[in-house]
Amino acid sequence: MNIALIAHDAQKDRMIELAREHAALLREHRLVATGTTGSRLCAEVGLAVECLRSGPLGGDLQIGARLAEGHIDLVLFLRDPMTAQPHEPDITALLRACDVHDVACATNPASARRLLRSLRSPG
Ligand code: PGA
Repeated sequence: MNIALIAHDAQKDRMIELAREHAALLREHRLVATGTTGSRLCAEVGLAVECLRSGPLGGDLQIGARLAEGHIDLVLFLRDPMTAQPHEPDITALLRACDVHDVACATNPASARRLLRSLRSPG
């Protein structure tokens, strides 16, 4: 599967923690991420991640475009619910693209863990 990973700054440590817990599983899939999230996942977890632009510089839109073309199967997007983001329109566009194309998207660690767990069992 092609899995997209995005974490806002306040959620990046949680993303690293999540990725460490599920590193073996994540290694079985093709990973793509926004710039800073992806470089941290490479450096701190040792995952092979294709790093796109940073979120505020268009990374969310790049992921949204791939998703609209059918190249993303699952999105793990740890959002910061407490901080206004300069690229809020891009975030909304990505979430809308997930809904339009019926792609599973977890926006908090609890749902991300459940989604990752579901990858272990068929169906
Ligand atoms: P980043 O982007 O991984 O480059 O920080 C995430 C975001 O803010 O959308």
